[in-house]
Amino acid sequence: METFTELDPTGSSLGEDPGEANVLAGKARSLDERLKTATIMMVDDEPITTEVIKTFLEDAGYSRFITTDQSTEAMDLLEREIPDVLLLDLMMPEVSGYDIMRAMRSDDRFRFIPVLILTSSVDADSRLMALELGATDFLAKPVDPSELTLRLRNTLAAKAYQDQLAYYDPLTGLPNRRMFMERLNWALRRMERTGGRASLMHIGLDKFKKVNDSLGPRLGDQVLASFARRLEECVRASDEVARLGTNHSSRNLSRIGGDEFTIVLSDIPHAELTSGIAQRVLDIMKDPFVVEGREVFLNLSIGIATHPDDGLEPDRLLKNAGSATYFAKHSGGNTYHYYSADINARSEERMRLESDLRKALEPNELMLHYQPKINLATGLITGVEALMRWQHPSKGLLSPASFITLAEETDLIVPMGEWAIQEACRQQQAWVADGLPAMNVAINVSGRQLRNECLIETLRKAIETSGVEPDCLTIELTESILMDDAQHNVDILKRLKEMGVRLSIDDFGTGYSSLAYLRTFPLDELKVDKSFIDDIHANADAAAIVDAIVAMAHRLGLKVVAEGVETELQRARLATIGCDSWQGYLRARPLPPAELRTLVTEQG
Ligand code: C2E
Ligand code: CA
Ligand code: CA
Repeated sequence: METFTELDPTGSSLGEDPGEANVLAGKARSLDERLKTATIMMVDDEPITTEVIKTFLEDAGYSRFITTDQSTEAMDLLEREIPDVLLLDLMMPEVSGYDIMRAMRSDDRFRFIPVLILTSSVDADSRLMALELGATDFLAKPVDPSELTLRLRNTLAAKAYQDQLAYYDPLTGLPNRRMFMERLNWALRRMERTGGRASLMHIGLDKFKKVNDSLGPRLGDQVLASFARRLEECVRASDEVARLGTNHSSRNLSRIGGDEFTIVLSDIPHAELTSGIAQRVLDIMKDPFVVEGREVFLNLSIGIATHPDDGLEPDRLLKNAGSATYFAKHSGGNTYHYYSADINARSEERMRLESDLRKALEPNELMLHYQPKINLATGLITGVEALMRWQHPSKGLLSPASFITLAEETDLIVPMGEWAIQEACRQQQAWVADGLPAMNVAINVSGRQLRNECLIETLRKAIETSGVEPDCLTIELTESILMDDAQHNVDILKRLKEMGVRLSIDDFGTGYSSLAYLRTFPLDELKVDKSFIDDIHANADAAAIVDAIVAMAHRLGLKVVAEGVETELQRARLATIGCDSWQGYLRARPLPPAELRTLVTEQG
């Protein structure tokens, strides 16, 4: 391996900036040159031995030494300096070399620091004991210079290779989660000693899984690697960070998960400094990533948590920064957020709901309620709209307002919608079998579902399995969904139409599209949004708008349904306007199937 990375999680010993000490940074320095920057600690009660060794090693090109002849100080020094290697005498008064090794092996921070034993004793037992305690190698006193440099070099090289594997992410060359946690811990402990502040910036790529799925893992990896490069550039070019960087290890970029990165900033004068850096990180995403001629746009979300206010321990700080990222992501993405207790509560609530929703599909916690569509002229129920409900195990019956957006963002809407389609078809046929007059059942379909390839297939299967007549089904799509990718949607709607199902445009009037434009879609029905119905009897403008919509829709051959009718005055006004049907609390709320059945049976 052509690189050497610092053994020291603090980033202090081998003199490399953490951002530069990796394979892909392409530093041309040879392994041996890098090894020479190692920090070598020596503990020996005879200062003369230490002096001699130091002189030999200086001749060989090493320059960083920490020495002590007081073995009682050894652990403190170790903790403060975290050397790359320890040259240790065994026989010392008070605290022996064995004692020091024992203490090191029981502490995660020191466990992997190689130890070369300096010993005049050739006694096999003491060697064996030292080996058992984890000694790496032995050097006989008096020390021979060429043997010393050879053993030291090999020890450092072996450790460097292991560290590369253990501490670095092979794809990006950045420190991995393990290294990150150690560094963060170290930075926090240092801040505690100096009274400084450290911020943790957690960066999440939004929907990277999608990129990976569509490009394949190989190109996905390329995108990640280029992203890491940009991030590195950005951190390096950032004035604030560079200034902070004069204090070693103040800047720290790591990849801690597939699409998760972190930057640790220590010694920051005030928490807000990080916002400038966060903004710059967001800016690097403006240009697309180009892999094999394809442009890929990525979004990211950043969460920031600051020590000590937002957490004293690495785990807590990371968790809180992660919550802030989650919050940023769900407030639209491509933004950053500072952690706050409030964010935490909201993120946790959302995460809980998300995991509950995943489970909701299994044990039939989802159900459909049905709201009648009533013919204005006859007053008879001619159809129903299926509206989803979630019987949450602890929260009770939830309406879509509290879970549909979440379902869409997590793509759970696809399996949920598939279930709704099957269930609505089954119910329609159950009513027919029960002797009820044939009722049209309307099913809501969201944008995510429409973009999903499976929609047509799902519908076809549901029709086949249930035996429902296709023209007894209506698919309701909102105006904004249709306009989202109009060209593509025209095709899908045509295919749906060919299957024989009716198509309805929902929430009409809220999406600013012209009726004339809607002609390009093969629609059957238009539902006037509740907001226009609300003051139709009180406000002349609202009435005029509905009047115009109805007239235009009729000219285009569309049936018109009024949504959310709550008063008799509204219903009467709609009748004079010539609207075809209506829905609303005035007649019925969405009802469980049995109650709807009663309602329909009663009307005779
Ligand atoms: P939407 O399709 O516009 O459904 C009409 C909403 O208005 C329903 O809310 C209904 O209960 C409510 N509503 C009906 N009449 C009145 C009234 O007179 N007054 C008032 N204030 N409200 C009335 P709901 O059931 O909470 O559904 C909300 C939205 O969730 C639906 O809006 C629809 O966009 C979505 N949704 C519901 N079920 C599904 C589903 O199975 N799949 C998908 N993708 N979306 C669904
Ligand atoms: Ca609807
Ligand atoms: Ca609606």
